Order: sequence, then structure tokens, then C-alpha cells
Amino acid sequence: MKIQQPKTRHMVTGEVVATKRLSPTFVRVTIRGDDLTTLDDMGFDYSVRLFFLREGQTALEMPTMSNNVWIAQFLLKPKSRRPWVRNYTIRSIRPDLGEVDIDFALHGDAGPASAWAAAVQPGEPVGLFPEGIYYLPPAPDRRVLLVGEESAVPAILSILERLDPATVGDAYLEVPLADDIIADADHPAGVTLHWLARGESAAHPGALALETVSGAELSGDPLYVWVAGEQALPTGLRRDLVTRGVPKGDITFVGYWKHGRASVG
Ligand SMILES: Cc1cc2nc3c(=O)[nH]c(=O)nc-3n(C[C@H](O)[C@H](O)[C@H](O)COP(=O)(O)OP(=O)(O)OC[C@H]3O[C@@H](n4cnc5c(N)ncnc54)[C@H](O)[C@@H]3O)c2cc1C
Repeated sequence: MKIQQPKTRHMVTGEVVATKRLSPTFVRVTIRGDDLTTLDDMGFDYSVRLFFLREGQTALEMPTMSNNVWIAQFLLKPKSRRPWVRNYTIRSIRPDLGEVDIDFALHGDAGPASAWAAAVQPGEPVGLFPEGIYYLPPAPDRRVLLVGEESAVPAILSILERLDPATVGDAYLEVPLADDIIADADHPAGVTLHWLARGESAAHPGALALETVSGAELSGDPLYVWVAGEQALPTGLRRDLVTRGVPKGDITFVGYWKHGRASVG
């Protein structure tokens, strides 16, 4: 998928300065460091590679290359010397303070990032490599359709905060529990928020959002669709919308993770 990278792109390091449990599923980790004052504030779904210590490590050995070769350099190192790395959205950025917030959707201890976020304490070293934004509408005044499950909720909330106040459309935000719903989320008045709580349902993340939006009527206005989350949601929704006449070029779809498969790194 097309991505717009930040003007300056280099590895930065900082440390965890605070954590806050936002709801049963979400925990916010705040990271601060002088290096972070150099990050561009791209907003929308601006994402980073987040580097954090493996169990037993005491020092963060970051890749030294800041171009796309970093991943090869990184994977050549033995696991004992390289940190974990995972993709996360910058939920909020305060460049003047050198601070970012990242909101983690916890999903148990099976994932190193989820386990780390649930337990991390202030003082822990962290590295970031800015990736950029996928939210790239073909025209600024399009009606928007934003869809995601919990891993994409931080990105959708950040997009909603940056939209022109005159924007109209719909946002479908699937979360595990009713207590994860943020009733006062900031958004343009013309964008309707549809929170979908899976509750006790055993359905995979994203299945409820896919079923709901596939069954929803489209307004007929030119749309810009942004959908992200577990792979089956963005690919399934894109397929459905294209058969209903939405041009492929008007759909940004990003697989954030794949059921039953750990991220690389
Ligand atoms: C551009 C981008 C931005 C992202 N932004 C965010 C964000 O802001 N907040 C956020 O929480 N996530 C975000 N994600 C998703 C996150 O990177 C993945 O969920 C990641 O796999 C988590 O790493 P982990 O170490 O916890 O699990 P992994 O080691 O990658 O996976 C371990 C197991 O957990 C499963 N799994 C992974 N993620 C989830 C999940 N969310 N729910 C249930 N099971 C899961 C996997 O299928 C696998 O079986 C983003 C992904 C991308 C590509």
C-alpha cells in the first residue's frame, strides 16, 4: 500500500516515562527523549517501528542504518543481541517535549509487544523508526469510511482528530468490550462513530466490523475508505466494496497483523 514517509527518517531512542490503563483492553505508554524532538508530526495514522528489550537484555542495540536496509542489518544479528520490533501508531505526539503516546491493544502474553506493554515500567529504553502515513485520500473533500478493530482504533482516533471539521462520513470501531468504548472521542460533527463491542462472542477480531460494514448501505457520494486491522478485515472489506462499485484507488487497506502468525522480528 502507498505510504508517505516523513521528511526526516532516522532511528531515535527514548525511555518510557509513564503508562496508563485506558480501559480493559488498552494501555497507553508515553515515551520521552531528546531525540524525539526531531520527529515530524505527521498525524493521521503515522506509524513507527517500535524497538524494545527482549527478556534478559539490559541494553538496547538499535540498528545503525536509517534507510530500508536496516531490516536486513537487524535480522542478521543473533536474537540474543537484537531487541524485539513491532509496528505501532503514534496516538499523540508532542515534538516540543520530545514525547509520544502509543496505545497498545492488549491480547495476552502470546505476543511480546502485548506482554511488554502490560508490564513495562518507567525508565525502560525504547527505540523508534518512523514509517509514515497510509491515510492518503485522493481528494480532500471526500466522504470518509474508516474501519478497524482494536489494533487500528488508535489510528482511527488519531485520524478523526486531524480531519477537517467539515468532513462527513462514518467510522466503525470494533473493540472487545463495551468498557473499551470512548464515548467522548474527538471527531468532526459530520462523522458518525459506530462502536462495535464483540462482547462474549468468540469471533476473531475484525469479523464483526467486516460483517457490519459489508451489510451497511453506501451513501452514493464519492468515498475515501481507510480500513486496517487483522488481515481478513481489510482484504475482505476491500473485496466487498469493489464489488459494490467503489474504485480500488479510493480504498486504503492495511493488514496490521495476521491471525495465528507472529510479526517478523
Ligand atoms: C502500521 C501498523 C500500525 C499498528 N498500530 C497499532 C497500534 O497503535 N496499537 C496496537 O495495539 N496494534 C497496532 N498494530 C498491530 C500490532 O503491530 C500487532 O498486533 C502486533 O502483532 C503485536 O505484536 P505482539 O508482539 O503483541 O504479537 P506477535 O508476536 O506479532 O503475535 C503473537 C500472536 O498474537 C496474535 N496477535 C497479534 N496481534 C494481535 C491482536 N491485536 N489481537 C489478537 N491477537 C493478536 C498473532 O496472530 C500471533 O498469533 C499496528 C500494526 C501496523 C502494521
